[in-house]
Amino acid sequence: MQLHGWGRYPRSNSDLLEPPSQESVLEIFSNEKISGPMIVRGGGRSYGDSSLATTVLSSRFLDSFLEIDPTNGVIRCGAGVTMESLLRVVIPHGFFVPVLPGTKYVSVGGAIAADIHGKNHHRDGSFCDHIERFSLLLASGEILECGAEKNSNAFHATCGGMGLTGVILEATLKLEKVPSVSIKRQSTAVANLEECMELIEDNENSKHSVAWVDCLAQGEELGRSVLHLAEYSEVGSQDFKTRMGPSVPFSSPAFLLNKYTTRLFNNSLYSLRKRSISTKIVNYDAYFFPLDNIRNWNRLYGRKGFIQYQLVLPSDSARSGLKEVLKLVSDSGRGSFISVLKKFGEANQNLLSFPTAGYTLTLDFKQEASVFPLLQKLDEIVLAHNGKLYLAKDSRMSEDVFKASYDSWENFLEIKNELDPQCRFASLQSNRLGLT
Ligand SMILES: Cc1cc2nc3c(=O)[nH]c(=O)nc-3n(C[C@H](O)[C@H](O)[C@H](O)COP(=O)(O)OP(=O)(O)OC[C@H]3O[C@@H](n4cnc5c(N)ncnc54)[C@H](O)[C@@H]3O)c2cc1C
Repeated sequence: MQLHGWGRYPRSNSDLLEPPSQESVLEIFSNEKISGPMIVRGGGRSYGDSSLATTVLSSRFLDSFLEIDPTNGVIRCGAGVTMESLLRVVIPHGFFVPVLPGTKYVSVGGAIAADIHGKNHHRDGSFCDHIERFSLLLASGEILECGAEKNSNAFHATCGGMGLTGVILEATLKLEKVPSVSIKRQSTAVANLEECMELIEDNENSKHSVAWVDCLAQGEELGRSVLHLAEYSEVGSQDFKTRMGPSVPFSSPAFLLNKYTTRLFNNSLYSLRKRSISTKIVNYDAYFFPLDNIRNWNRLYGRKGFIQYQLVLPSDSARSGLKEVLKLVSDSGRGSFISVLKKFGEANQNLLSFPTAGYTLTLDFKQEASVFPLLQKLDEIVLAHNGKLYLAKDSRMSEDVFKASYDSWENFLEIKNELDPQCRFASLQSNRLGLT
């Protein structure tokens, strides 16, 4: 069948295997007819080709909750459990998931494999910083217990390792106690990138922080943004709530996207013009997962799909590098009307994890032949400023760019070769990046 990631580019003709149990996975491993490499697929929310291969192994069967300890705020669950299901279980106990991505349809396995970050990386680090342990099924059939202390090499290679070391079966996650799941959000319209970064720095103690940047603004307004700072409200809802908005029924002509994104950005900006700072109590689902309310929004980019380009630049070069990036994008007239800017805290020890102290910017581009030269120029700016690109969003980075920017790739490969000597786990992405 034809498979793709969230960006709907690239596509692969793959055998999608949906084993009902761990035993059937072992049968797949020993089936001589499936001799080539395979890759695990969770929620399919990575944008590019990290969960694509000739043989794809669904983790859907790993969907059970195994144990919750409400006294210590710890949960053990299968790697196929989604963030939505986790929230459904932990919220009634007064807990919350400490790191959340921009969609609730990501699985625990996918969150570990990409070591995902939220809007609070500057305070709380990334998802794997809250993972106490997990079990990893190797291609040999052996199950390895991994944690920061036990089999720590396998732990640091699997966290952020994009499914290349084995199948994560189940994991134990430390939860966060919260006073309520209502979010007190303060939004401020800012004139340009300089002002936005200054305001983020001034508010670095804010729990959550994210700026929506108008990446088509130019000149004095380059990087004009709306900065949303947020905390859990002391008084508010304790209830799980999930919104389900309309669905985009089919691939739309691209001009719809422009109307849609312009409206989204302008609404948030112009509603703020009256008062440049506004404070609101909002539902956590609306704050963390704004795009989930439009199901299949990825169809808005048309049939050929789109490319998400997420970069991080270290603190000392972020200001000048981001200006260069935004100028190039706004001069090109391409890219989405909205892009997202966040501050990252210190990096952790995971070998292929993305976050590094500095700033990360996310840009969307409609997939078409003429966008690739622009992306190559962006790569050059990123490398010149000692930055890197996020593997969970990547669909086109070259091996050279990858190896020049991910310092620990050789160390990762050494550990992968020990855990998976026959290279049974490989994706289209790992082949392209020269990791397999
Ligand atoms: C709208 C949207 C917003 C997003 N926002 C953010 C964000 O704010 N921050 C962020 O960091 N990311 C974000 N992402 C990206 C997303 O969090 C990651 O791509 C995540 O890895 C997707 O998880 P998944 O379960 O969908 O995995 P898939 O996309 O299916 O797979 C991703 C990788 O995980 C591996 N994998 C999955 N399950 C397992 C397993 N059980 N064992 C071993 N390997 C496994 C796969 O092999 C693959 O390499 C966003 C994505 C979308 C669509």
